[in-house]
Amino acid sequence: MNAPEIKGYCPGALRPMMSGDGLVVRIRPYNGRLSRVQTKGIAALSLRYGNGIIDLSSRANVQLRGVTPDTHAPLIDALRDLSLIDPSEAVESRRNIIVTPFGETPAAAHALTDALGQPHAPALPHKFGFAIDTGPKPVLQTAPADIRLERDLKGELILVADGMSTGKPVAVENCISEALALANWFMDTRSTHNRMAKLLGDGATLPDGFNTARQTQTYAPVPGPTPQGMIAGMAFGQVTAAAFATLGDIRLTPWRMILMEGCEHAPQHDSLITDPTDPLLRITACTGAPDCAQALNQTRALARHLAPHLKPSQTLHISGCAKGCAHPKAAPLTLTATGNGFDLVKQGRAGDTPAASNLTQNDIIKALSHAP
Ligand code: SF4
Repeated sequence: MNAPEIKGYCPGALRPMMSGDGLVVRIRPYNGRLSRVQTKGIAALSLRYGNGIIDLSSRANVQLRGVTPDTHAPLIDALRDLSLIDPSEAVESRRNIIVTPFGETPAAAHALTDALGQPHAPALPHKFGFAIDTGPKPVLQTAPADIRLERDLKGELILVADGMSTGKPVAVENCISEALALANWFMDTRSTHNRMAKLLGDGATLPDGFNTARQTQTYAPVPGPTPQGMIAGMAFGQVTAAAFATLGDIRLTPWRMILMEGCEHAPQHDSLITDPTDPLLRITACTGAPDCAQALNQTRALARHLAPHLKPSQTLHISGCAKGCAHPKAAPLTLTATGNGFDLVKQGRAGDTPAASNLTQNDIIKALSHAP
């Protein structure tokens, strides 16, 4: 079996990535929000220049699929008209910011966007990112980010280097300059490291002042009403353009869910999940075959087949190859496609040593019934 190809960068709009169904064009919505005009516009462009399928990524970005090299340029022009395109590929690559969907959009999100757009901003590694998690309670602690703004136990702002249990007190006025100073410290210290938690885990010592205890996240996202509007899930983070066009003003999340602002009832669409007990919410499945060129089998068809067999206590990751894009961390149960059925990995990642191999669908259903 060929080892999966590691591309080492996240796709953008200006720097799309080729997949089995064409170019993946990733839009990074400013401040984690899209207006009604933008959601409708993106849906129309997906139908016109892509294949009518829209993804929500684990970094709270929106992806158009099925774009061709010929349709990419007119698509970018149209997205620019919707104020969704960065001035350059370098700025787009740096502007990895996830924003809490709760409360007002923090001023820090605007300020950080502005700071990362400056020519002297640090040239951060492609996957390096920021989380503005400044609502009353942290909600983004499991989302991928290297530098975080959160509130401590007293509700004061702290700057957190990912992987640490303590942060540095900062003020609203200086939180972004402090975040950039931490980013510059990372760049000066990192050697070959691309991520903050790995650098610190390998023994790097932060500058002074990072001693204030963080809150621990207790929030678990589920579809349903919130003070800001209705949250709905998307099976495998994917939705049709027709459904996307009806969402109105939305806030993006890294949970494969969107928050429809001011909305009390989610529109009914097959690709929207409104029942918090829907087992599809507990299955993570990457694109798989045929839309990912590296996939060794279908993943999402299998997920829908297995969903009714999943116990309420079980969560499942299904990966089309050993790369494990959709869930790079360990999961209680992972099914990894091979050239010959699926491997079952327990408490591990897609590429880890399996507990069982060459499983058929019936074998898998039996294994789920025996697993906790
Ligand atoms: S994990 Fe899935 S999406 Fe990622 S390369 Fe493998 S098959 Fe493709």
